[in-house]
Amino acid sequence: MALYASDMPNRRRNHGPEELCAWIVQGVERLGVDTLRAWARFYAGHRVLESARVMTAPVQARHEQRFPRANRLVWASQMSANLLWRFPPTAEATARDAIEVDGGCPCQGTGEITLWGPGISMMCPVHSRAQIAAFRRGYQAGA
Ligand SMILES: [Zn+2]
Repeated sequence: MALYASDMPNRRRNHGPEELCAWIVQGVERLGVDTLRAWARFYAGHRVLESARVMTAPVQARHEQRFPRANRLVWASQMSANLLWRFPPTAEATARDAIEVDGGCPCQGTGEITLWGPGISMMCPVHSRAQIAAFRRGYQAGA
């Protein structure tokens, strides 16, 4: 998020960690820590809805409003992922609940998303993710 908001050029070339860190500092200074964290939570929520194929028009619209340059967002994400490999997040950052849906979750906070009609639903990938993770752990342990 900080890289997206920084002066990092869009040209596809690898940047060194010192250069990236300087742009991150610039992005943090521009957005402020609170906005940056909110953007990161919304970005994570958008990715979860997208990968579960339960995106809603309002959530997508707010995402595009926040990040109008889709290619830059992909590029900034790749560069920050490279950096995370070198500098893993702190335990505090990992423990922070970092997913939020901006524009109304398709489950409307119930933890379940109705798919085609009454009785046919799925667990919300955002609001039921603890249960989904527990099911997966159980499945892997039993397999
Ligand atoms: Zn939800």
